[in-house]
Amino acid sequence: MHKPAQTIDAHSVMFITQRPELVMVEGKGSWLTDNNGKRYLDFLQGWAVNCLGHGNPGMIEALNTQAKKLINPSPAFYNEPMIGLSNLLTANSCFNKVFFANSGAEANEGAIKLARKWGQLNKSGAFEIITFDHSFHGRTLATMSASGKPGWDTMFAPQVPGFFKADLNDLDSVKKLVTKNTVAVMLEPVQGEGGVIPVTAEFMQSLRKFTKENNILLIVDEVQAGCGRTGTLFAYQHYGIEPDIMTLGKGIGGGVPLAALLATDAIACFVPGDQGGTYNGNPLMTAVGISVIEQLLAPGFLDSVKKKGELLSSELLSLSEEFHLGGERGQGLLRALILGKDIGGKLVDLARDRAPEGLLINSPRPNLLRFMPALNVADDEIRQMCNILRELLKQVA
Ligand SMILES: *Cc1c(COP(=O)(O)O)cnc(C)c1O
Repeated sequence: MHKPAQTIDAHSVMFITQRPELVMVEGKGSWLTDNNGKRYLDFLQGWAVNCLGHGNPGMIEALNTQAKKLINPSPAFYNEPMIGLSNLLTANSCFNKVFFANSGAEANEGAIKLARKWGQLNKSGAFEIITFDHSFHGRTLATMSASGKPGWDTMFAPQVPGFFKADLNDLDSVKKLVTKNTVAVMLEPVQGEGGVIPVTAEFMQSLRKFTKENNILLIVDEVQAGCGRTGTLFAYQHYGIEPDIMTLGKGIGGGVPLAALLATDAIACFVPGDQGGTYNGNPLMTAVGISVIEQLLAPGFLDSVKKKGELLSSELLSLSEEFHLGGERGQGLLRALILGKDIGGKLVDLARDRAPEGLLINSPRPNLLRFMPALNVADDEIRQMCNILRELLKQVA
């Protein structure tokens, strides 16, 4: 079964991250196969992107059908999937208007521009946005400036001005940063890259009340937590609040490059010339988005995400007790195991290199592991993943 490992010549690929000496060639459901025929149980799923796993038949069908019909009429015209997906998203959320983009960072750039535009029209040019320590909003200059990742403030200095960082789940820290120029507060309902830290209900609700009373917009970045990941279609729906602006990415395309900026009628104040993008709302990607959202909304699907989240949570808790770790946290199928020691990177490598089958997980902080499997992962695959982890934890103990 195992051929000798192939050598890889990737010298022309720009070096932006340390990649292992293997090439991924095929995927099905929760499993990836590399160029040597080795299989991996995939609990990364393209960083919470492939919400329906690899090779989802509905998505493939939508992509093929649309490719044959119309790939790109230009963003100057309406197209059927663009309208269909906009309607689907607004019918199932508190928002009225949708702009499609190609990446989460681009959707967030749009949210920042929309908030600033609204500030120009409605709040004497207010432009400051309060974001949070350890938040992640993308890798463009403005979204890096919005992010609270340590070290990012000096990395490509000077930053885009106007972003101030508060502490998550601490309303007083937000209040301290408010000035007459504050136009919005932007946050992830669950901080993903920051280590899977959910916003508390009390904080989200008091933040909504405070921002409303002070004529400040509330922007939720649901690029990672949206689209069924937490067990509701959108993460803000757990809190009984309605934000003014939401961004989506990752899961909305199920693996293809698609993202969205959503706003209520009261806030959607762009006029022609303010916002655009060559591929915005292109039918090939939005057709896939329709297939993804329809599958998430199928009867029972989101309930099963909640149940699978509970299973993963209880399995991780038993591991934590068994190995005296620091517990687990998260929402739905976005979860973290708190290791209590900086062994995350080592476990990630051991898991991937394990034979005969590897496991793909990630460690956004050295003292924890993050899990973001397909939302239709099998219960047995969740148990299998935890059994592999058990074996690895014994190894490093
Ligand atoms: C991944 C992520 C982004 C950036 O999305 P890209 O598609 O990589 O640009 C923004 N916000 C959050 C919360 C994310 O997890």
